[in-house]
Amino acid sequence: MTTSSIERRALPSLYAEFLPKLGRISIVVHLPSQSTWTTKALISNDGERLIVYHERISTEIILPTAAKLRGEHLPGEIPPGLFKMSWRLLAQDSLLTGGLASQPALIPEVAPWSALVLRPRTDVLCRKCETVVVSRESLKEWKDLPSENWAEMMEFWHCHKPVINNDQRNRADSSDNANDLKASESALASRGYGANTAIFAQAGIGFVDLTRMLFHKEDCRCNVMFMNNADIDPNLTLLNTQTHRSISTVASCPGCNAQLGVYDTRKDGVSIFKWMLKFADSPANSLSMLRPPTLSHCLATALFATQERTGSAKVVLQGDKEAITAWILNPRISFSCNSKQKVSAMKLLWQNRGREEEEELILPDSIVKDIRGLLQEGNSYLPPDEKMKQFNAQDGVWTVALLERPEQ
Ligand SMILES: [Zn+2]
Ligand SMILES: [Zn+2]
Repeated sequence: MTTSSIERRALPSLYAEFLPKLGRISIVVHLPSQSTWTTKALISNDGERLIVYHERISTEIILPTAAKLRGEHLPGEIPPGLFKMSWRLLAQDSLLTGGLASQPALIPEVAPWSALVLRPRTDVLCRKCETVVVSRESLKEWKDLPSENWAEMMEFWHCHKPVINNDQRNRADSSDNANDLKASESALASRGYGANTAIFAQAGIGFVDLTRMLFHKEDCRCNVMFMNNADIDPNLTLLNTQTHRSISTVASCPGCNAQLGVYDTRKDGVSIFKWMLKFADSPANSLSMLRPPTLSHCLATALFATQERTGSAKVVLQGDKEAITAWILNPRISFSCNSKQKVSAMKLLWQNRGREEEEELILPDSIVKDIRGLLQEGNSYLPPDEKMKQFNAQDGVWTVALLERPEQ
C-alpha cells in the first residue's frame, strides 16, 4: 500500500469517556469501512492507550485515565461487517477501588482566578494585545465577591431580568404596571438588594467572581462608552436599579478596542470577563495567574455553581436577542478523541432557545454567540451517533457538547 492511498483513507474515529463516579471508561470506535477478521482493538501494556488496527493502519489515543485491562485485546471477538464497536472498561483507579486517581473528583470546585491565587501589585493586561488595563500601582488587593453576594446577585438577575424591551416599556406607562414595578422594587429592597447593601467597586481593589473581575473606574483604563438609549446597542443592556432605565455600556481595551466587558451600573465599576484578560509573565505572579482561564473554563464553573446552588441542571444563557438553554448531563467527566486527549470536561445538552421557567445567566449577545461556537466545537469531539439527543417531539432535538473544564 502506498503512502498516498493511506492518506486518502478516512481514519477510524476513536472516543473514550471516563466517568469518575462509576470508575468506568466508555470506549466507542467507528470504522470508516466494515470490520474484517484482521480488525483489532487493544489496550497498551501500561493501560494508558487504546490502539485500533484496521485495514493495515494503526490508530491510537491516550485514554482519559488508565484502564485496569493492560496489554490485551478488548473483550469479545470482533466479527467482520461492523462499523461501530463499543466497550465499557474498569479504570485502574476509581472511587470503587479507592485508588488515588479518584481523589481529584472529591476536591470541591474552585473558580479559576479566585482571589486566593491572585497576587496584587501586578499589571492586568488585555489578553489580545497585552495593553495594560489596570496598572500595578493601582491594584493593591484582590477580594472574592462574597459568595452570598454572588448568590444574591444571581438571584436578582434571575427573578428580575435586567432587560426592558420596548413592549414592556410602553406597558409600564399604564398604572397597573408601574405599581408592579414599585412593588417588586420594595420587595427587593426588603430582601437586602437595596443600594445601601450592594457591593460597589472600590479604588485599589480587584473584586473577582466566577467569571469576571470588577475594578474601580479610576483604576481601569478601559474606554467606557455610555449610551443612554438601549436601542443603540441592545447587546449590552444593564438595568440601572435606581431609575429602572436601561443603560448600554461597553468597556473596551484602550489598545485594540476589543470589548473586554461592561460598565456595571449596579456596582459602579468596570466588570471585565476573565477570559479577556491575562497577567504579565513575571516570576512574581503565581502559576495559576499564568494559566489564564478560557471562556469554556469560566462557563463550566458558572454552570456548575448554578446547578449546585439551585439544584437545577438547566440554565438559560440569556442575551438580549440571543439565548441558549444548557442542560448539564454530567458536570465532571474526562474524555479523549482523535483530536484531543485527556481533557477534563462537562457533558451537556443545549438548544438554541431560552426558557421562561429556568435559571438564567444574563450575558451580552456577543458572549452568547461565542458560547454557541464553543458548544459547536464541543459537539465535534463526540462520536458520530452521539451528537444529538431527543427525548420527546415537543421538547425538540438537543445537541450534545463537551465543555472543557479547568484542570483541578
Ligand atoms: Zn424580580
Ligand atoms: Zn487589547
